[in-house]
Amino acid sequence: MLLDTNKHKGLRNQLVATIKAKGIKDKNVLDAIGKIPRHVFMDSGFIDFAYQDNAFPIAADQTISQPYTVAFQTELLQVKPNDKVLEIGTGSGYQTAILIELKAEVYSIERQKELFTKTKVFLPKVGYVPKKLVFGDGYLGIPEYAPFDGIIVTAGAPFVPKSLLSQLKIGGKLVIPVGENIQKMTVFIRKGEKEFEKHEHGDFRFVPLLKDSRK
Ligand code: SAH
Repeated sequence: MLLDTNKHKGLRNQLVATIKAKGIKDKNVLDAIGKIPRHVFMDSGFIDFAYQDNAFPIAADQTISQPYTVAFQTELLQVKPNDKVLEIGTGSGYQTAILIELKAEVYSIERQKELFTKTKVFLPKVGYVPKKLVFGDGYLGIPEYAPFDGIIVTAGAPFVPKSLLSQLKIGGKLVIPVGENIQKMTVFIRKGEKEFEKHEHGDFRFVPLLKDSRK
């Protein structure tokens, strides 16, 4: 296991200051970023980059999202303790760990077998135990565990999957970057059975939410 040293903690404090300066206000989110050793979620050769506010390559052509983006999406989700949260795109498990740090009950889906297997073993080893990790297609959500208080999509969606909207509780929120090359961070709040409020929050760039190649 990779060590978390005072040097790492110092770098993490600087990262928290950076994303705070960029506009993140939620204290619980900032505390979670300050607490989680992001460097252990990255391959060892890249440790020096772990506390820069940038996305970084992980396995299978995917990336660990930029800390500011993780913080921004998490702030929009407004997680409360014991909320049931569904994450689409487990990847490195870093966003999963942030949600667990906020005391959510986390369900997460990943379509890349290599990442799914690696992260499933890794997360509990570093003390973060999700409620359920699923290998499958995030476009479908997980109907058998729905409804969710929050759903967070961590890849760029070309459109808003109806199945995800339908798996929200009334009052629940979907945070999803929508678009092909550049994505608009979009929040849907479920107001009623068929009633959704929509808010847009600026442009981001994610790896694409891919269709399940196994089908
Ligand atoms: N939350 C991750 C971000 C990883 S990048 C982290 O913090 O590291 C986006 C992830 O979404 C990738 O791991 C990618 O494989 C996954 N992904 C892409 N399309 C998907 C789909 N249809 N279903 C589930 N996961 C998907």
